[in-house]
Amino acid sequence: MTDSVTATESPSTAASVTVRVPAKVNVQLAVGAARPDGFHDLANVFLAVGLYDEVTATPADELAITCSGPDAAQVPLDRGNLAARAALALAGRYGIEPAVHLHIAKDIPVAGGMAGGSADGAAALLACDALWSTGASREELLEICAELGSDVPFNLIGGAALGTGRGELLTPLTTGGTFRWVFAVADGGLSTPVVFGEFDRLTAGTDVPEPTAAPALLDALASGDPVALAKTLSNDLQAAALSLRPSLAATLAAGTDAGALAALVSGSGPTTAFLVPDEATAHRVAAALTASGTCRTARVAVSPAPGATVV
Ligand code: ATP
Repeated sequence: MTDSVTATESPSTAASVTVRVPAKVNVQLAVGAARPDGFHDLANVFLAVGLYDEVTATPADELAITCSGPDAAQVPLDRGNLAARAALALAGRYGIEPAVHLHIAKDIPVAGGMAGGSADGAAALLACDALWSTGASREELLEICAELGSDVPFNLIGGAALGTGRGELLTPLTTGGTFRWVFAVADGGLSTPVVFGEFDRLTAGTDVPEPTAAPALLDALASGDPVALAKTLSNDLQAAALSLRPSLAATLAAGTDAGALAALVSGSGPTTAFLVPDEATAHRVAAALTASGTCRTARVAVSPAPGATVV
């Protein structure tokens, strides 16, 4: 396999397929106690947000991954890349030679708690499926996604959904309108398993309740009312992320001081998410976060966003 990073244009030939895929924010992330297998049961309310990666699949002599974008140097280009794993899983199932070049145009923060790697897995799966005309059903693609990782099925379907089990058993949810967000991207990532380990440490000896989706949060999503949603946002991993990265408290404060309705750590962090009432406030909060010096950059996005789509 060829390992290379390229900052050049994504490949484009008549035979290539490009898939656009959104990031996610967890508007609720309820975490149960560690199971004997080490995983945690979750009640995970996913919302796809309009920050996108694009994965282009082009026929090649052998499997190769390239990546462009500001965080490209942090993306593995070997078979550990979720896009490569997705191509190999699909090729293995259909007896196809995985002779494909996957180019990732990366805009989703890496290791930021926004499921960027999972997004690339879902996008690569859809792109290779279209390139190879496998005829796989949606259910089969979702099954492969679940094998790749807990967040991958949601990246395929997008919109809003409740994830149970390890997060991979999805029930689509209705949203009554558009929600606006600002995301503060931190310097450096946080490892999801390390954050879960810190959650286990912080909750050791306590009675961790069964994770369930909050009815008030589901109602708020369905109503499309950002003020109602702001009151119900929750993330059981937030204390663990803050324990590992105490400086995130200052980022959260900078966004709420500037007029965000609510602030929370996105998934396992360290990206922080700020729900805002309107576009003007979004730009004000983004400017304040940038000026605060408590984050690397601030991004404005709307939700829900569609799932992985061939463009
Ligand atoms: P999640 O929100 O699903 O927990 P995350 O957004 O915090 O994940 P990712 O951007 O998915 O984090 O990156 C986590 C790790 O996954 C990276 O440090 C990297 O080593 C690995 N990885 C594998 N494939 C990719 C990919 N295509 N893009 C980015 N990281 C990848």
